[in-house]
Amino acid sequence: MIAEVILSINNKNVDKAFDYSVPGELEQSLEPGMRVLVPFGKNGRTVEAYVVNIKKETDVEPDKLKCVSAIQDGYAVFSPVMMRLAVYMRDKYYSTLSACLQCILPPGLSLTEHKLNYAYINEGSSKREVTISETLEKGGKQAQVLELLIKSGGMSISDIKKTLGISQSPIDTLAKKGIIVCLPVRIHRMPFKAEKYARFEALNLFPEQTAALEKISRKLEPDYIGLRSVLLHGVTGSGKTEIYLRLIEKAINQGKQAVVLVPEISLTPQTVSRFVGRFSDKVSVTHSRLSDGERFDQWQRAKSGAVSVMIGPRSAIFTPFENLGIIIIDEEHETTYKSETTPKYDVKELAEKLSEYTGCLVVLGSATPSVHTYHAALNGKYELIELKARINNRPPEVKVVDMRKELIKGNRSVFSYELQDAIAENLAKRELTILFLNRRGHSTFVSCRACGHVMSCDMCSINYTYHMYTDRLVCHYCGDEIASPRVCPVCGSEYIKFFGAGTQKVEEQIKKSFPFARVLRMDLDTTSKKNSHEQIYSSFLAGEADILIGTQMIAKGLDFPRVTLVGIIAADISIHMGDFRSAEKSFQLLTQVSGRAGRAELPGRAIIQTYNPEHYSIVYSRTNDYKAFYEHEIDFRQQLDYPPFSHLFVALFTGESEKRVAQCIYKLYEIMKRQNTESELDIFRPTPATVFKIKNIFRHKLIVKAENEEKLKKFVFGCIDELRKNEDLSDITVNSSLDPLNIP
Ligand code: ADP
Ligand code: ZN
Ligand code: ZN
Repeated sequence: MIAEVILSINNKNVDKAFDYSVPGELEQSLEPGMRVLVPFGKNGRTVEAYVVNIKKETDVEPDKLKCVSAIQDGYAVFSPVMMRLAVYMRDKYYSTLSACLQCILPPGLSLTEHKLNYAYINEGSSKREVTISETLEKGGKQAQVLELLIKSGGMSISDIKKTLGISQSPIDTLAKKGIIVCLPVRIHRMPFKAEKYARFEALNLFPEQTAALEKISRKLEPDYIGLRSVLLHGVTGSGKTEIYLRLIEKAINQGKQAVVLVPEISLTPQTVSRFVGRFSDKVSVTHSRLSDGERFDQWQRAKSGAVSVMIGPRSAIFTPFENLGIIIIDEEHETTYKSETTPKYDVKELAEKLSEYTGCLVVLGSATPSVHTYHAALNGKYELIELKARINNRPPEVKVVDMRKELIKGNRSVFSYELQDAIAENLAKRELTILFLNRRGHSTFVSCRACGHVMSCDMCSINYTYHMYTDRLVCHYCGDEIASPRVCPVCGSEYIKFFGAGTQKVEEQIKKSFPFARVLRMDLDTTSKKNSHEQIYSSFLAGEADILIGTQMIAKGLDFPRVTLVGIIAADISIHMGDFRSAEKSFQLLTQVSGRAGRAELPGRAIIQTYNPEHYSIVYSRTNDYKAFYEHEIDFRQQLDYPPFSHLFVALFTGESEKRVAQCIYKLYEIMKRQNTESELDIFRPTPATVFKIKNIFRHKLIVKAENEEKLKKFVFGCIDELRKNEDLSDITVNSSLDPLNIP
């Protein structure tokens, strides 16, 4: 018996199947999809590998053929479907099969096996009591451990340490003496307690919901023929979640499973509670705040069939369900659905593939679909299903305030008069307010009035942000901090001025203008501790504050029924990002944030403050007109031949020497120019990246545009290979991405 394996070495040169013979004693248990250990290379070091095929014969000469050393898990960690998906990922994202297979595996898989995490009394040591009273110091740490284990029968080592407040060493000593035994035991850690969640009964659907549900759910019928991909375009507060829940219920009743993808930022207790409240312990959750071990446990629970619904960020697409029925991708426009590390997969593309392999249904949901997806839907790739009305039938009333006019009126505060009045009104009515500003810290710009010097990070091409509570200047790129200067470091003048507003300044000004208001702030600085996010969230939900100030953390997916006013302090931040998607991102953000207002009985309103009231992303979010925005945007994309009408390749070269980075990327540019004989591709001259230095590393980018994706990939990677042949790039990091959602 011969096993074909892929080595867990991420290198193009060894990224192919290697043959190994299977020793007789492993023949019975070895299956494709298993992890094994094999000897590799001249000195035969042991390497982890994945069995992709089992066969009878090999071309490798018998004396050269090596043997599989061991099986690692005793079961296949890859299903045939996942192995197929890995091959697709390799080709599509220009990666190695090894990297793709490793990307599919949960973190913590290798970790849990070998760790001795559980202890019990060695049955062989018959003289238990004796052991305590003779051999060990009475009341000493070892004796305490032993007593605890006699009482409990056995315990996880971390619990022993916690209970007794001791270190590892007395446990190790006891094990060495043979009095206790330590071994690895699977202890399933649960990310939540299902019984703590209130039951969430099915709601009576509104007619629009019923119609949408019927159209989608017939695609779950076994005999259904036709499109199995849906774009559910439902305005904010239109009740998309209830539709997801009904679809999942149907899949479960058919003995199938569901994957629900949500952006990490909206994976809030509220989101989880709706699913757990409906399906109780059939639901599992995975996210990056869980430990590797916890994430592995959730993977294991899915694999064993203990759960039928997995909720998580993009990596949850790799959940090893036996019989996948439906994949839901909520807030499909979020850029986090595309990975920024190799393999740079797009989860929507993977969902399409899984649908092709397994017949599962794919539902993308959003109030503000990405231009890319909406365009695909109009071209027949997705069935477009719409929810045009809010559940309460009242879209938020959106007002735009021209901040230029405020200046003329002499208002220099971060709040327009209109927003100030609205906040005061809301406080008087005891209704809740959300204030949104996509910048944390206090002042975003600190400079000297005498000489004009701007305080900026030495290591990054970025201004320092002033943080009021720590009285320090912080670089938001590298995290570097310095004490806030009292005098200008250049001219010594005392006239240091703070400009630009972040969330701390908004908080400060609210406290000044409305001293009695109870205020909460949610941004990176207030949520660094575990659970602080949840605490702020539930505190606001419980009505313990009147005003919630925050960054994009509060923009997405939250459903606070008593919020009736949303203030967007500076709508212009995202318009001027210098990315061709700026308008799209800005429209999405404004619409999503405004959508937090008036979601229940009380009518809601949003006030958008801007210096560009005539910009179309603002005009159409004011009228809440997605289609008009889309028409405008798609026109612009077509005229300039931007995606979805073309594909963009972006190469980012980074390195310590600015000269070398610029030189090397320019050489790539020249190679490309030379090879672009038929001028099929648009090759742009390299430029410094938007942030051209981070932590003393210089960054330059080069963009290539083409209509045909395959041609573009072949061309650019061919040119990079050519460059590598002519130029030593050991001091340069080359980061290449196809159709990235954020241009560096
Ligand atoms: P979306 O995700 O479309 O923004 P949600 O699914 O969060 O909207 O629904 C908005 C609010 O309306 C939620 O509080 C939800 O519980 C409620 N809701 C949804 N459907 C119904 C229904 N059929 N009857 C009553 N309330 C509903
Ligand atoms: Zn100065
Ligand atoms: Zn910095």
